[in-house]
Amino acid sequence: MQTINGKEVSKKIREELQNEIDQLKEKGITPGLSVIIVGDNPASKTYVKSKDKACKQLGMKSEVHSLDGDVSEEELLNLIDKLNNDETIHGILVQLPLPNHIDEKKVIEKISPNKDVDGFHPINAGKLLVGEDTFIPCTPHGIIKLMESENIDIEGKRAVILGRSNIVGKPISLLLLEKNATVTICHSKTENLKEITKEADILIAAIGKANFVKSDMVKDGAIVIDVGINRVDGKLVGDVDFDSVNKLNGFITPVPGGVGPMTITMLIYNTVIAARRLERGK
Ligand code: NDP
Repeated sequence: MQTINGKEVSKKIREELQNEIDQLKEKGITPGLSVIIVGDNPASKTYVKSKDKACKQLGMKSEVHSLDGDVSEEELLNLIDKLNNDETIHGILVQLPLPNHIDEKKVIEKISPNKDVDGFHPINAGKLLVGEDTFIPCTPHGIIKLMESENIDIEGKRAVILGRSNIVGKPISLLLLEKNATVTICHSKTENLKEITKEADILIAAIGKANFVKSDMVKDGAIVIDVGINRVDGKLVGDVDFDSVNKLNGFITPVPGGVGPMTITMLIYNTVIAARRLERGK
């Protein structure tokens, strides 16, 4: 298979974003992202650190609010309220998952839809569903950009998505449908999974199960996008058994270095859009 290099694609897009950020700054607007993290989940801490670093590298304003794991829901909602009203902050992101005593739905709905750079607010998710301009969720958007970087034609293709989460499976299905793919969504209750995945021209794996997709589940010549991030013996591996699937023809994204870098890049992209909207609204 041919590997799609997410780091390289990401670097190119970040260069374009750098220009936009510089132009906005000349007009007195520094795109600002505020990330809230609750508790000390090690994976969440790593993601937040990478987001902060990437924003700062591009000269954006970036702030991280680290709250104790036992913070009250009210305190968290109050902080979001404050950031909703902070003119120097264009994007707000609450790192998920949240501790059990906090209602994730309430938190997502508290973020102003105009600053919801993750695209998780029901208003933005609804806009995506009906095809209106919105903040496209970062990981699915990154997947589309990866395919575009290789000039992969999506129209008319049979796309099979493994996973139906609100953050990956559902939105990537909508984006592929919008691009005229014929889309099938699979989940843990799907029967005869292998028969379905074998038909995919585009196979997206987003289930969170290490090395789940083996070569006998993949059609020769398919485009295989591996969203999974799993830690096995201290190493990061995807949902696709890379070594076996890589022996086929087609395209594949590696883990790490595939979808992961794109997610952060598209988060920056959404924050720049939010800042630009403000500039246009002036
Ligand atoms: P969720 O746990 O929210 O969803 C997993 C989905 O996979 C569910 O819909 C579930 O089905 C389905 N599933 C589980 N087991 C199977 C199975 N055996 N066969 C078919 N479907 C199955 O995960 P996320 O969508 O949040 O994340 C998926 C993976 O992607 C994780 O590894 C996560 O770490 C990674 N990720 C990576 C990102 C990146 O930037 N690269 C960003 C976001 C996530 P059901 O609905 O029936 O339970």
